[in-house]
Amino acid sequence: MKVGLIGSGFMGKTHSFGFATASRVFDLPVEFEMELLADINMEQAETARKALGFRRATDNWRDIIEDPTIDVVDITAPNALHKKMALAAIAAGKHVYCEKPLAPLAIDALELADAAEEAGVKTQVGFNYLMNPMFRLARDMIQSGQLGYIYSYRGVHAEDYMANPESPWTFRHDPAGGGALADLGSHALATAEFLLGKITRVMGDCKTVIPERQDSIGAARSVEVDDVAHAFVEFETGTTGSIEANWVASGRTMQHEFEVYGSRGSLHFSQERFNELHYYRVDDDSNRRGFRRIEAGPDHPPYGEFCVAPGHQIGFNDLKAIEIKGFADAIAGREPEPFNFRAGHRIQSLVEAIQKSSRENAWIET
Ligand code: NAD
Repeated sequence: MKVGLIGSGFMGKTHSFGFATASRVFDLPVEFEMELLADINMEQAETARKALGFRRATDNWRDIIEDPTIDVVDITAPNALHKKMALAAIAAGKHVYCEKPLAPLAIDALELADAAEEAGVKTQVGFNYLMNPMFRLARDMIQSGQLGYIYSYRGVHAEDYMANPESPWTFRHDPAGGGALADLGSHALATAEFLLGKITRVMGDCKTVIPERQDSIGAARSVEVDDVAHAFVEFETGTTGSIEANWVASGRTMQHEFEVYGSRGSLHFSQERFNELHYYRVDDDSNRRGFRRIEAGPDHPPYGEFCVAPGHQIGFNDLKAIEIKGFADAIAGREPEPFNFRAGHRIQSLVEAIQKSSRENAWIET
């Protein structure tokens, strides 16, 4: 299957590593060939083509859509472009892998999900943290009842890349689909539903704390999107919890974190040490109680595909390889899509429910 990649920044590179690693680590049902890479100008596209191992480069993403030999369109361009690129790819009958957030608005994400299902193409949205073997373990422990009844949940995604007021206005500040909640909170929401099931209502509070930034040519731009968002959430099971999205959390570079408190035990996870899951057992003798550190190893699939030795650790780019393995299985009809456009729409609608709740100062059903 020939891949056309749109965008070669942070995620373009990560996706390229993911395709390369997936084909070496897993027994994939399809073979991916890195065919055509598009970026905004020829110089950038050609440099990335060479570095990332693509055959051809272009400065026009529509070349990928119009090329009948391309089977998979991989979109890692800024958020506001996802919709038109994905719709064009679907109309051309191609499978689509798109970064999150799927589209600026939930209504756009819904249009994309409907279009993909109607066209019968396979889709995947980049919620890579869910691919962590320790997430599967955590979900298994919750679902098997090992933690008992889940009393409460805490989910955070905090980083500090917008903490400096001098850092410029970017596509992440675009009122159409920008903000910490959409950018980072989307991951925290996906994790919460992955672990505990459907969130049924939310009460949000979204704040802009740096109201103005300069754009790339030095012009002042007002910031309308949130820098910090908090939400109370309630799950279908009745469990309640909280979600925080924060991109001004000085000192935090990757605090994608959750805590699950149950009647028989608790779990704590942080992406800052993502090859570990911390487990507390209520039934331990009182003088031996404490969180134990479970280290990722071959007993936590698919860790063993990467490394035969426990504790040697997998990395961020490997999560993309696992995501791509799931997408390949879906394309081959072996498995359902791990996180398709319908699932991407669900997350976008939760983001909007929290934003609406913050504006209206009221609980919103999701
Ligand atoms: P980036 O700025 O590093 O890269 C974006 C790339 O798209 C650049 O190379 C840019 O030149 C290119 N581009 C812009 N307009 C284009 C056009 N019209 N045609 C072709 N190329 C174009 O941004 P990034 O951090 O890689 O973010 C890209 C997407 O990935 C965003 O949607 C973001 O939310 C998502 N993202 C996801 C994760 C994750 O963990 N899943 C992490 C970071 C970013």
